[in-house]
Formats: sequence, structure tokens, C-alpha cells
Amino acid sequence: MSQKLAGVKGMADVLPASAGGDAETWQFMERQAREVMRRFGYGEVRTPVVEDTALFVRGVGEETDIVGKEMYTFTDKGDRSLSLRPEGTAPAVRAYVEHAVLNKEPVTRWFYWAPMFRYERMKTGRYRQFWQVGAEALGVQEPAQDAEVIHLALEILRALGLSGVRLELSSIGDEQCRPAYQEKLVAYFQGYREKLCAECQVRLERNPLRILDCKNEGCREIARGAPVLLDHLCAPCREHFDEVKRLLEVVKAPYTINPRIVRGLDYYTRTAFELIADDPALGTASAVGGGGRYDKLVKSLGGPDVPAVGFAMGLERLKLLLHGAGRTFTSAPDLFVASVDGNSFDAAFAIAGKLRQDGLWVELDTRGGSLKSQMKRADKSGARFALVMGEREVAEQAGELKPLRGGEPRRVSFDELPAILRAP
Ligand code: AMP
Repeated sequence: MSQKLAGVKGMADVLPASAGGDAETWQFMERQAREVMRRFGYGEVRTPVVEDTALFVRGVGEETDIVGKEMYTFTDKGDRSLSLRPEGTAPAVRAYVEHAVLNKEPVTRWFYWAPMFRYERMKTGRYRQFWQVGAEALGVQEPAQDAEVIHLALEILRALGLSGVRLELSSIGDEQCRPAYQEKLVAYFQGYREKLCAECQVRLERNPLRILDCKNEGCREIARGAPVLLDHLCAPCREHFDEVKRLLEVVKAPYTINPRIVRGLDYYTRTAFELIADDPALGTASAVGGGGRYDKLVKSLGGPDVPAVGFAMGLERLKLLLHGAGRTFTSAPDLFVASVDGNSFDAAFAIAGKLRQDGLWVELDTRGGSLKSQMKRADKSGARFALVMGEREVAEQAGELKPLRGGEPRRVSFDELPAILRAP
């Protein structure tokens, strides 16, 4: 007996609505996102699904959960360690450096729409293959670039009709102001050392900023009283942050300040933001996206000293928000062509083919079958009209166009069909 095969846990199939799926919602999201990217002038970058493991170890950080626990890493037949990409920034930067893009243009603005892989514990809104739409702007240190990237993310949400997502904004400083802050932070956490989880006790020595990111409730409680970087920014970082806020106001993008946003890695600098929805559709998750400035990453991956800023949004979560709001996306054929009997099938096939070449969505039953069963399928297809082909219709090049969602049938010549079907 053959064994039953199933998809990999945490990795979903997407099927058309006719098969009970939500592919149309995905198509809607992709169309809207691509259109907004076009308006902002971001070009698409497509990188392979697998990369050298070292890219993520260096670009995401060995101490992060992503690299430490969640990567799908394997050895290929040539004995190389490869990993399925867990995020999109490191691969985009790898491509930017590898193709010496800085020599071709001083400012590079890219977007991606791609699947990511993380071996995570699953729940609503958390999967092992999930899709992200993201953007990266490289080559600009000015705060206007941060504001543009944030505005871009917000415009995608607007194009999707998701008004319940809020922007939370902060600045995490740079190498000038962070060391002094870090000392204050360490001094604070030293006072609670015994109460921190085992991992955070290690972080206290190695990367104290990451304690602020710990998911353990005890650590979170302690972190709530910790000093925040926003209160300790150096003057240039403060000015940068003020300018980002001012420019968001210029484009009327509302934000709230959340000084507790953290990015635990040294590559991240200055602006950090999150897109948050407190929506029951997301279960216990609430972040639909996040981003910020990463001025040190390009250089750390062997490239030139190029500043950058970007974001990524989780598409399954945006889809959950759309469905939670009762939005459904279905589409239906313009016309269903049936044939009275086997002799007229060729005529039905010919007119369907012609109308399809003209750009119309036309269905027919390739199994042939009785007129009754074809009409049943026509109804089920949701088509606006049906047309039955017989000998007479072929001879007269005209027939009866039957509306399937109410209305009177009318006689039309086949020449007029495209125009009639195209009319709303
Ligand atoms: P991150 O790359 O971790 O900053 O995540 C950016 C966004 O991707 C998050 O805000 C989520 O919307 C989404 N995301 C991250 N991890 C997952 C996951 N395992 N499943 C679904 N969405 C995710």
C-alpha cells in the first residue's frame, strides 16, 4: 500500500476560490503591492530561495533566534552549507554587493515579494513558510529616505484597505550614543540579574540590548522599567529622528512613538519602526511588519560603506486582516459557451478560442456532455452570460445571449459579442 503524502507542516498550499482556497486574495495583495512599488519607483529584486548559510550568520546575526534556532540548513552534494532564506534583507544586500550596483547608481531602491522559511512554533499568523513583501533603499543617509520607505509601507496598507494598522516609531541611535546607553542598561539589569532567564543572563554579558526583546514574561516585566535609548540619543541621531517625524507629518502619515522598539544587532541604526494591528484575526500576534535603518550591514557583508533603510511585511497576516474584515475576492468568467450536441462542439470551441484571443474570460466544458450538464456547470462557474451553439447559430453567426444572473436573453450577432461582454 502506498503511503499517504502530505505537505510539510507549517507550509500552506494556496488554491483558487473554486477549490475552496484564497488565491484571489493573494493576487489582490500582490497587484496592489506591485502598483504601489511602481508609484514609488522601486524595482524588483529576485534572489534565489537558498543562500550560503554564512550570509545569514553574518547578516542576521548568530545570536538571533532566526539564525540560532530557526533556519532550515542543509549540506548539498558539494558539501556546502546552504540555508533556505529566513528573511529578505541579507540576500538583497548580497546581490547589491555582488553586482557592484553602487558603481551603476548612487541610490538603489528595490522591493521583493517572496517566501521566507523559519522553523518556528506554529500558531495563528506564524508559519514555517511565509511570504513577505519588503523594500530596501540603499545609498541614502538622509532622513527623507526613512520617511519615504515608511510612507511606502503605509501606502501598501492603504491600497489594501487596511486602516486598522498603526505605525510605531523609534530611534535606536548609532555607534556614538549606544555605548553610553548600553552601560546604563547593563547597570540596570545587573540589579535584576538573578531574576532574568538563563538566556538573558548570557545576553547581559554579550548583547544586553537583546534582553529588551526577550519574550519571557519575567524578563519583559523587568525590561519595562529599563532606561530607553530614545532618551539618550546623541545630537545627530536626535536631529535625524526629528526630521523623519517632520517628513511623516508632511505626507500626513500618523505615527505613535514607542521607545521600546528594539533591534538587537549592531547593524541597525537610528530609525526603527513596527506596523501593529490589535486585531483578533491575528490571534496572539500583532506585528504585521517592521523595518528600520541598517547603516552598517552592507559593509559588514563585504560591500562599500553604504547606508540603507528598509522594511518587511508578513503577507499571511495581512491576508488574515483582510479576511477578518470580511473582504472576499472572487472573480467570474464573462461568458460560458455550451454546445447543443457533439456536432456543435467545434463551433463552441472556435468561438471560445476567438473571444479568449480578444482578451475575454470564456469557459466551456471540454468534456462535452449533455446540454443540461453543461448549463449546470455554466451556473456554477458564476459566468455573467451563457451562449448555446448549434447548427443554426453557426449558419447565422448569431445566437441568444442568456444572462445567468437575472435579466432577459437577447439575440446578438457574434461580431458584437466582444463589445457586449466588455460593457460593465
Ligand atoms: P521580521 O523579519 O521578523 O521582522 O518579520 C517581519 C514580518 O514578517 C512580521 O511583522 C510578520 O508580519 C511576518 N512574519 C515573521 N515571521 C513570521 C512567521 N513565522 N509566519 C508568518 N509571518 C511572519
